[in-house]
Amino acid sequence: MARRLKGAEATNLFRKLVPDLRWCDSCGIPLVGYRRCPLCNSETRSIRVTPPGDVRPAFDKDIEIVKQAIESSVGVRAAAKFVSLNSLMLLNKVQGIDAADEVIVCGYSIGIREFDIYGRRWIFKPGYVGAKLIVDEKLGFYAITSRDRLREYETVKRSEVLEGDIPPPGTWVAIASRDGGEYGVAKVLQHGDLRVYKVWRALPKDPEFTHKPASISKAMRANESRLTELEKEAVEFLQRVRRLGTTRVSVSGGKDSTVAAYLASLAGIRRAIFVDTGLEFPETIQTVERIARSLDLELDMPSAGSDFWRAVEIYGPPARDYRWCCKICKLAPLAKVTEKGSGRSVNVVGQRQYESTSRALAGRLTRSASTAGDLIAAPIQRWTSLEVFMFIELRKLPLNPLYMKGYERIGCFMCPTSRLAELEVVKESHRELWRRWEEVLERFAKRLRLPREWIDYGLWRWRFEYPAEIQHLAKKLNLKPFEILDRIALDYVSTAIEL
Ligand SMILES: [Zn+2]
Repeated sequence: MARRLKGAEATNLFRKLVPDLRWCDSCGIPLVGYRRCPLCNSETRSIRVTPPGDVRPAFDKDIEIVKQAIESSVGVRAAAKFVSLNSLMLLNKVQGIDAADEVIVCGYSIGIREFDIYGRRWIFKPGYVGAKLIVDEKLGFYAITSRDRLREYETVKRSEVLEGDIPPPGTWVAIASRDGGEYGVAKVLQHGDLRVYKVWRALPKDPEFTHKPASISKAMRANESRLTELEKEAVEFLQRVRRLGTTRVSVSGGKDSTVAAYLASLAGIRRAIFVDTGLEFPETIQTVERIARSLDLELDMPSAGSDFWRAVEIYGPPARDYRWCCKICKLAPLAKVTEKGSGRSVNVVGQRQYESTSRALAGRLTRSASTAGDLIAAPIQRWTSLEVFMFIELRKLPLNPLYMKGYERIGCFMCPTSRLAELEVVKESHRELWRRWEEVLERFAKRLRLPREWIDYGLWRWRFEYPAEIQHLAKKLNLKPFEILDRIALDYVSTAIEL
């Protein structure tokens, strides 16, 4: 297994992965690696993003979430300034307690949208450009202080605010030094004092913040030569890989494996596999069938059927630290269709380096962790999400409609590795599916006398140990996190079979 890095090592690795992301101000589109825009020949400028910089286009539902988050966190005027349905918004996943994305508009990172697990809603925290525009144009909550210099982690007294519109305690506010030489973001404390969290020195050049009508398709046309280069290179890689053994492509109904399947088909690979865990969204099954049909693939579709629903009665809800579901719903059906002793097999997958540090370290061709001698080939290892989506547009490949409904990852609908933000999306978009799962959780909670919050705040996603931030959340909710875990452990001691 590849190593998983943390802290500074991870930061350094992620920094190396940042793509040469650029922006054309006249077209209002992102470009990867072009100094001049192929559509209008203007010079492009670099967009600074938080590493690793796996940017993706925001779809309608994402834009709606960003708009609401800005409206409630900053104000309606800020939302009107920052969000336009006709221009391209990019999202860049960043570290957070739950879901968090850097929001890029008009080629500028304006701030972070993050899911607040306490209030179970999205909030917006301005970045430099966001804070500057909010203060300069008085777009919503802001504070101009009497200080010449702002310092991180210092408290600015309410009496030091010269001018402003201060939100309620606990919320973020954009701040500025007296002369506008510095901008920052602070959290409002009781009595209206401000705790400074981040400070930026004002850049000499003001951002040119103008929305240009643009779409993913316009961006695709501009990046077309790069996309066809990537395609050619990946197909050549897969043609070499094909000679190493029996090849097969794994599809999931997600964007990455769709592109991998397309590239594999160009390289002459015909066999595809999709493991139906029995916990799939209907849209995912339909997308997989469309992919197989449009690429003329021979699709193997082993299914776990209702195995999950039977097993959950024995083992209880699966958790991040108790993932029996993977073995029963994924590996068991897979084993049924895997031929033994027929030489080496190569599995083509849609994995990408941006997904985790272990994937970034893994390389493009790796040994399978589960089956000795077998190989895993990742043709789009170095592609960004943005390139994947533009490529899907270029080749008119089927795209799972869930991406348009606010989903960022495609998998089992109640996966315990889901973030709370993702579960909220499921509740909203697939009420009946969610209800079936909620009934299981309710029965379990009733029998073990667990509080309702155990369901509503997704505490079921851990079985043996809560991470620090979840312990903190539980305490804030007046729950006893250790008692909850003990109660589950005691009840299941008789059935805790080592899987
Ligand atoms: Zn242009």
